[in-house]
Amino acid sequence: EGTVTFENVCFSYDPRQQALKNVSFTIPQGKTVALVGPSGGGKSTILRLLFRFYDVESGRILIDGQDIRQVKQESLRRNIGVVPQDTVLFNDTIFYNIHYGNVNANENEVYKAAKAAQIHDRILTFPDGYETRVGERGLRLSGGEKQRVAIARTMLKDPQIILLDEATSALDTTTERQIQHALTYITKDRTTLVIAHRLSTIVNADLILAVKDGRIVESGTHRELIENV
Ligand code: ADP
Ligand code: ADP
Repeated sequence: EGTVTFENVCFSYDPRQQALKNVSFTIPQGKTVALVGPSGGGKSTILRLLFRFYDVESGRILIDGQDIRQVKQESLRRNIGVVPQDTVLFNDTIFYNIHYGNVNANENEVYKAAKAAQIHDRILTFPDGYETRVGERGLRLSGGEKQRVAIARTMLKDPQIILLDEATSALDTTTERQIQHALTYITKDRTTLVIAHRLSTIVNADLILAVKDGRIVESGTHRELIENV
């Protein structure tokens, strides 16, 4: 499960300007897809529609063949994990912050998620257990570490689809790349991963969709797009 299809999707925030114009594509289950292209092109809008933050104006969005407007909102949101650009962490332990993604998960599952997101040793230690507050620990993390916590939190939810919007990411390229690699690796063939980014730095995406002026202007593998330039 986790096949995503956009069929002739149109959407406008403002009646004078269409943000998405007849957007159609299919993302096979378990694949990693990069939405790339200039700022304002429509990448974030695609993610917002998929999460039903807004509804399409016309056209359809299907997950595993089912129109998302026919899926219960809570079930849709359980099946889609969003890794935000700016993760707000509680002033508590890393453990607590990851566990928040799924309060029913046991300790072992939390550690597994943390490990999958490759969180550094120094923040993998939860000396006082997650019930204990550890001062400002969460707030002192680097941007990259915060995002890893966000990834672990999302992983713990075990969604079918993960959305990562780095369209306006404040992270440096190296950190971004590390995080994309970690995510691609841990979701491999299991979770559909959709990453929005200005640049096609995501070399190991299975499919790249170039989004510009509200349209998919090109699609293909990294190699295919390079050869077209
Ligand atoms: P990208 O993610 O590629 O930078 P967006 O999806 O954010 O592009 O934006 C697509 C278009 O929609 C742009 O013209 C942008 O100005 C407009 N837009 C995005 N968000 C909003 C919003 N909340 N209200 C009005 N217009 C918006
Ligand atoms: P920082 O600026 O604090 O180094 P980063 O987000 O770039 O923040 O990286 C956090 C730390 O995690 C780095 O020190 C990095 O070397 C480390 N790291 C990355 N992957 C792993 C891993 N698989 N195992 C252990 N440490 C790792």
